[in-house]
Amino acid sequence: MTPPSLLVRELIDAIGEEAVVWRPEDLLVYEYDATIDRGQPEAIVLPANTDDVVALMRICNRHDAPITPRGAGTGLSGGALAIRGGVVFGMNRMRRILEIDVENQTARVQPGVVNLDLGTAAAPHGLAYAPDPSSQRACTIGGNVAENAGGPHTLAWGTTTNHVLELVLVTPDGEVQRIGHATRDQPGYDLVGCVVGSEGTVGIVTEALVRLVPAPTSVRTLLAIYDSVREASNAVSAVVASGVVPAALEMIDKTTIAAVEPVLHTGFPLDAEAVLLVEVDGPPSQVAAEGGIVESILRRFEPREIRSATDPEERERLWAGRKGAIGALGQIMPNYYLLDGVVPRTKLPDVLDSVYEIADRYGLPVANMFHAGDGNLHPCLLFDEREPGATERVLEAGGEIMRVCVDAGGAITGEHGVGYEKRDYLPWIFSDDDMAAMQGLRSAFGATENFNPCKIFPAGHGCGEAGGGHAQQTIAKFGPKAFV
Ligand SMILES: Cc1cc2nc3c(=O)[nH]c(=O)nc-3n(C[C@H](O)[C@H](O)[C@H](O)COP(=O)(O)OP(=O)(O)OC[C@H]3O[C@@H](n4cnc5c(N)ncnc54)[C@H](O)[C@@H]3O)c2cc1C
Repeated sequence: MTPPSLLVRELIDAIGEEAVVWRPEDLLVYEYDATIDRGQPEAIVLPANTDDVVALMRICNRHDAPITPRGAGTGLSGGALAIRGGVVFGMNRMRRILEIDVENQTARVQPGVVNLDLGTAAAPHGLAYAPDPSSQRACTIGGNVAENAGGPHTLAWGTTTNHVLELVLVTPDGEVQRIGHATRDQPGYDLVGCVVGSEGTVGIVTEALVRLVPAPTSVRTLLAIYDSVREASNAVSAVVASGVVPAALEMIDKTTIAAVEPVLHTGFPLDAEAVLLVEVDGPPSQVAAEGGIVESILRRFEPREIRSATDPEERERLWAGRKGAIGALGQIMPNYYLLDGVVPRTKLPDVLDSVYEIADRYGLPVANMFHAGDGNLHPCLLFDEREPGATERVLEAGGEIMRVCVDAGGAITGEHGVGYEKRDYLPWIFSDDDMAAMQGLRSAFGATENFNPCKIFPAGHGCGEAGGGHAQQTIAKFGPKAFV
């Protein structure tokens, strides 16, 4: 057996053998996240507190070893992958909810707290944590902060950035910074705003103070069943244009239904082209009024049927169909490539037409389930990576879909981040000056090329020529054009 390196021995001395993973067979499970890229670290460290993070970071810096923060590894842009090896900081042992302050409606948590666990802990106090990614059973608050995660219910409440008040951050040079404040609207720069959504490139979050919101006193969930994706998309635009802001507005298409229904038995009709899940919540009188308005708008677009659920079990079953959709796609094909684009909502019908056309042209099944109310598309291309050339075909089709989103006035990510996977697409939406300004901000936090290397920005030492992510093929086709 290969003995541990000097770096690994020092890491073990700092936090103990049981908190350092370094044997090759154990490293395998940390090679991937939810994307199709891979990166093998030299070691994983599992710190128990902020002091551990500082000590470990200093050791890595002394050894010039790349550092990659990691939560649950559910990320969909390769942000937690150790592309240049080095040490992955797995934050999962730091999973304590330190305080729920009911009066001030806040929670102080460690970064490894699982999103759903926070919601569950807040519920007995009549409170909720609003950002609810579909991965909420696994993903962590640290990962949510890094990705500025959204979810079905962020249409009304906003994404993670609207819910973080204060952070403890260990900067890449090993300094501990407490940024933000429990009271809002503090003077000075919005440093919390800089860290949320920075995709783990400016430091490691070791504590977060987040807002909780009052749990709704009543909820109505509508399931609108359509025989045409275009009509369903038009209904989405009309609901949003009406001024009513539903708590959630999600679309699920026929391919997704075919995967979900046999395993989750949600009651989605197998022959529908698309279903919309629309939720309104609040005091009963508001739910009755807004539910009525939404239903009448949905009816204008010739749904086959509209069902309404108010009892918690029925609602839960419908949401299980949405939140379990990606996992269920394994029924159809062993691999998926989940894209994340955002477009102006009025462009949804045309962009969806293009998505189906592109997938068809490449001979790939495509499933769509997405936060329609946000204009946030998630086309999911299905394939079998064992088939020669399949991965390349999927990546090229994915690049074309991204390009369609950009050309429609949208962007290359709505909530999953740029990460490793889409960094070569960044010049499609930002000029060189924009990117230089962002790099400058990153440097101001003390980040060098060793801190979460090869993420967000194109190119970079040791990441492969002209990038290294899969995006290059598409760049070659469309050119590195910045449209800003
Ligand atoms: C089935 C499925 C459904 C999903 N649905 C949604 C959805 O509805 N909405 C949505 O927004 N996303 C969704 N995602 C994507 C993903 O779950 C989110 O991006 C989530 O926030 C990632 O959290 P994580 O703990 O898994 O982080 P990881 O994947 O481990 O890491 C993600 C990024 O965060 C950084 N990071 C992690 N912890 C820290 C920390 N403590 N300090 C600094 N940086 C850190 C990593 O370096 C990496 O760049 C989905 C993913 C899957 C697989």
